[in-house]
Formats: sequence, structure tokens, C-alpha cells
Amino acid sequence: MTYYASADRYETMTYNRCGNSGLKLPAVSLGLWHNFGGMDAAENGRRILRRAFDLGITHFDLANNYGPPPGSAEEVFGRIWKQDFSCYRDEMIVATKAGYSMWPGPYGERGSRKSMLASLDQSLKRMNMEYVDLFYSHRFDAETPLEETMSALDQAVRQGKALYVGLSNYGPEQTKRAAEILRGLGTPCLIHQSHYSMYERRLEQGLQETLEEEGIGTIAYSPLARGLLTDRYLKEIPADSRAAGLSTFLNRQDITEEKLKKSRELNRIAEERGQSLAQLAVAWVLRKGRIASALIGVSKAEQLDDIVGTLGQSSLSDEELDRIEQILGGGAL
Ligand code: NDP
Repeated sequence: MTYYASADRYETMTYNRCGNSGLKLPAVSLGLWHNFGGMDAAENGRRILRRAFDLGITHFDLANNYGPPPGSAEEVFGRIWKQDFSCYRDEMIVATKAGYSMWPGPYGERGSRKSMLASLDQSLKRMNMEYVDLFYSHRFDAETPLEETMSALDQAVRQGKALYVGLSNYGPEQTKRAAEILRGLGTPCLIHQSHYSMYERRLEQGLQETLEEEGIGTIAYSPLARGLLTDRYLKEIPADSRAAGLSTFLNRQDITEEKLKKSRELNRIAEERGQSLAQLAVAWVLRKGRIASALIGVSKAEQLDDIVGTLGQSSLSDEELDRIEQILGGGAL
């Protein structure tokens, strides 16, 4: 069935300026790391993408290696994009990344010019797109001079294959140096994609300050701790959950009693606020206005409705924040 985007799609979503740039990102962005691979049901992916766009989610995050198999999330996205979204291209921010292992041999990973630019060409082909809005270096590569990786990002922009560039998983010092090189090349770093949630606080150890000093926006990935900061596991491990599936990043052994105890206590605060735990987890990430966007994943379109449902109630009182800190016991699990 032909897709027509909802006419009121921009009425409820909040859009935040990304660092010092003129680009605004939705407070919630959608990542395609899971549930969009070649082995997943493409119809479900299509429902999720349509629902996301109807809810005002304009930013879609991919990487060369998302799948499985690697590359298949871009192919699935590309097919759906062509059918449903090509007429909305100028309303969408599509990101991809290169840096992790993608094809055999010495050029299939890391940050060399050869690897980065070949990977971007492959991504564009898989997605059926002429350009991406955002191209990331997915990780810092100590074996490649930072100048080389950054000049590859700059070249992607000069070739018209990307509009903006970003960094992911770089530490504070690496980010500072990379930002300086990119500024010198005339392609400022737009954004830094960082792991951040109530259970993962490393961003607070200097990186966020660096990003603000450099005028770089922050997008927080896995704000729901891959499902641990939702109601998914509070009672059991559901058969259709990530932990019950093949993901190597969340499995049954990761669902420990210690984590569940904290999640259940956090859930009590969420309930008092009339929210789901997932809604509280997103509100917490966005609480200080320092994070441009919370980059979530979903396995079902309904999970998006839940997350976006109470976005207007993102503020948390000092008392609620103190209680959360007590539960977390001073940091990451
Ligand atoms: P989240 O922390 O958002 O976890 C997503 C999972 O939480 C879903 O798959 C679902 O679990 C569960 N969930 C989501 N919404 C709800 C809800 N409303 N109620 C109950 N459960 C819910 O993030 P991800 O780990 O998926 O990562 C998000 C994105 O971040 C990725 O797609 C990717 O784009 C990016 N990322 C980037 C990385 C990098 O190195 N730059 C690394 C990792 C992620 P279930 O599937 O069990 O239903």
C-alpha cells in the first residue's frame, strides 16, 4: 500500500539544535542496528520506519556493518526508502558509518582513506542513495594517522557524498584533536555518537565537556541499555526479546538479578510519574538539555509510540534525580 506520511507529523516532536550547527535533530532518533537485517521481517521494519516518520522522527542511523549479515540493514533500509520515503528525502537525516570490520583483507575495516571512502561508496549503493546526510568515523583507529581519517571524512563532503561528518566512540583527547583537524580542513565536526544511559555514564567523564567546548552536538546511543531500562525483562526474558535472540551484545547472562533489582526500583519512579521505564530512561538522558538526541532501537512500532508518548514530560525534579542516583549507586553497572 502506498505510504502517505501523517499530516501532523511535526506537531509533537521536539527538535534540538546539534552543537553549534544549524541542523536540528529530533529529540528521539531511530537506529537500525537490530531488527533490520536480512534475517528480520522486512514488513516489520517497514512498519517501524513509517511509524517513526509519522511521529516526527526525521533521523535514521545506520552503519556499514549493521545486519546481520553486515550490510543488510542498509539494503533493507534502501529498499523501503525507495518505495516509501524517496519523496521525503529532504525531510530526512540519514547517517552511516565506517570503521568496524566489513569486508575481508586489510582495507575492510579501520580508518584509512582507502577503507573509509570505499565503505561510503558501498553504503550509498546498498541504500540506493546519492548522498548521506551524515558520515561517521565509527571508531578511533590508532594504526592510522588521525589526519588521514579526518581528511577522508572531509573528502566525502567535498565529493558531495555526505553533508556532515561525525565521530563515534572517540575519547575526549581523540575528539579534541579530530575536531581541530576537521576545522582546519573546513569541514567542522557536527556530532559525536556516544554510549550513554543511566547504566553507562562514561560520557560524563570529560567527553561531554569537550564536546560543548568544541561546539559538537551529542547523540546518545543505547539510552535504554539495550532493553534493560524498559519493562521487557522486569518479570522474565520474553521469547521475542533481544536477550532471547542471537544478539552478541545482550544475552541471557547479561540479565542479572543485580541489574533487574535496579531496573525494578527505577520502574517504581517511572510509575509514580505515570511513565513507562523506557520513557523515564529517555527523559533522564535528555534531562539537562545537553544531549541533542536519544538514539533508540525498537523491535516493534508500538515501542515507538510508547517512547514518544511522554516526550513533553522530560523534566525531572531534583528529588527524582537524587532518588535515581541513589538507586544507581554512583554510576554504571
Ligand atoms: P536501546 O538502548 O534503545 O535498546 C533498544 C531495545 O529496547 C529494543 O530493541 C527493545 O528491545 C527495547 N525497547 C525499545 N523501546 C521499548 C519500549 N517502549 N518498551 C519496551 N522495550 C523497548 O538501543 P540499541 O542498543 O538498539 O541502540 C540504538 C541505536 O544506537 C542502534 O540502532 C544504533 O543506531 C546506535 N548504536 C551505535 C553504536 C556505535 O558504536 N556508534 C553502538 C550501538 C548502538 P527488544 O528488541 O527486546 O524488544
